Amino acid sequence: MSRSAHPAGPRHADVLPEGHYSAPPADLNALDPKVWARTVGRDEHGVLTVGGIDVKQLAEEFGTPAYILDEADFRARARAWRTAFGSDADVFYAGKAFLSRAVVRWLHEEGLNLDVCSGGELATALSAGMPADRIAFHGNNKSPAEIERAVRAGVGRIVLDSFQEIVRVAHIAQSLGKRQRVQIRITVGVEAHTHEFIATAHEDQKFGIPLAGGQAAEAVRRALQLDGLEVIGIHSHIGSQIFDMSGFEVAAHRVVGLLREIRDEHGIELPEIDLGGGLGIAYTSDDDPREPHEIAKALTEIVTRECEAARLSTPRISVEPGRAIVGPTAFTLYEVGTVKPLEGLRTYVSVDGGMSDNIRTALYDAEYSVALASRGSDAEPMLCRVVGKHCESGDIVVRDAFLPGDLAPGDLIAVPATGAYCRSMASNYNHVLRPPVVAVDGGGARVIVRRETEEDLLRLDVG
Ligand SMILES: *Cc1c(COP(=O)(O)O)cnc(C)c1O
Repeated sequence: MSRSAHPAGPRHADVLPEGHYSAPPADLNALDPKVWARTVGRDEHGVLTVGGIDVKQLAEEFGTPAYILDEADFRARARAWRTAFGSDADVFYAGKAFLSRAVVRWLHEEGLNLDVCSGGELATALSAGMPADRIAFHGNNKSPAEIERAVRAGVGRIVLDSFQEIVRVAHIAQSLGKRQRVQIRITVGVEAHTHEFIATAHEDQKFGIPLAGGQAAEAVRRALQLDGLEVIGIHSHIGSQIFDMSGFEVAAHRVVGLLREIRDEHGIELPEIDLGGGLGIAYTSDDDPREPHEIAKALTEIVTRECEAARLSTPRISVEPGRAIVGPTAFTLYEVGTVKPLEGLRTYVSVDGGMSDNIRTALYDAEYSVALASRGSDAEPMLCRVVGKHCESGDIVVRDAFLPGDLAPGDLIAVPATGAYCRSMASNYNHVLRPPVVAVDGGGARVIVRRETEEDLLRLDVG
């Protein structure tokens, strides 16, 4: 069953049997607070509201499909991570989950740092005023131009991903007369998934330098010799959509083992350890994510314990949650176009978006929830599949869902927990225009990423 994991998340909930779906919920109008952004509710007519605004109003003003993002929820989650880790640790929001200039400003205001992994993400961060020293630059194939730009800008750290990159960054920094702070990303032979982790001797993946065979130790040895680099720590990222902390335990044990080796060989204690991101969120009511303070407590204890055992002073910890901050804060609002009952099977509900605004279902078999948003309904539940408008039978948004049996064209439905890896992975497939991101806060709504237009499409097509 296993498919190789994307850094943005392996297929979700692959522990469930094929064809799994839960029984219909007792109340189709109920909104599980685990799955929905914090200010989401229903008004007295059963219409979904967020930040005090009802979705019919949002659809009228901004059109559908649209990603509706609860700004207060985003800020609260960012702050919760920041507070949970306190002043002895750094929280880096993984920009690839969803990045825009408004998001950068919120992060800056809430005291978080930012991970970027391309020139485009770096440009977005800098243009919104994120101080360069609070930016970490990731990636397994940063171009020399991207590296130069990052070094010139003065990013707080570059996370080195290969032997060649160690030399490349050192050379560029030196030629600019700089000493670049770097971490070395290693693979510790732990691959974590939702409810379990797999420990393997070798890591068959493109990221990082394997701990196995002394390769990570050799990378540190080489980096320490280069004048252009200041090695500040070791980085490890073990997976995505993780609920079980035991994978982090094994990873921390192995990273601290390397820190001890480095101390024994070079007489230095590297001051930082980055445990990556990958903390899970609830896509459906079956998921049970942990709160940031529980995660912070667990990770800090693990690292402290391992360091005490190795007689090392505890390094400064950093973490890189992406999905766990932005994922739950947004839902996608769609309009139902056609409702097609297939006798004895299920009803296909087609919406005005699809795999171009949410590729995760097609790509990872991700599970999502869905609710009728423009009204309440007492109709009997019907088993549905929510599909998009693309010319592709795999164009599925929600594979198995129950919606009220009176669902009709023109109804609005909402798919929660689409804040992460939906807009950021959106495409123009079939020349469908990418939806806007609308931020809602305290009774007001504003576009933070506008809807793509046909002019946008045609501007790139030079004829
Ligand atoms: C993708 C990624 C993250 C964020 O992962 P989430 O699952 O969104 O928390 C953090 N660090 C690194 C290095 C990543 O590649």
